[in-house]
Amino acid sequence: MPIYEYRCESCSGKFEVLTRFAERDATQVCPSCESIKTKVLISSFAFAGTGGSSEAPDFGSAEGGGGGCCGGSCGSCGSSPN
Ligand SMILES: [Zn+2]
Repeated sequence: MPIYEYRCESCSGKFEVLTRFAERDATQVCPSCESIKTKVLISSFAFAGTGGSSEAPDFGSAEGGGGGCCGGSCGSCGSSPN
């Protein structure tokens, strides 16, 4: 079970809650002031880590193959068995 970080809008305090992903957006009560005006803080690295790294190797291998006559727009470059 992941730990999500929440921020209280009443006292600007942060706290962590061990909860399920499905209950991530559920209302959490601030442990400091007992306010329910809290928001979950999304971890940015979870999204940037998977999306950015998967595209980079594709561009690198296409250019290194030597078949890039037009940069991939003609179609024959992309049909290489490599
Ligand atoms: Zn609070």
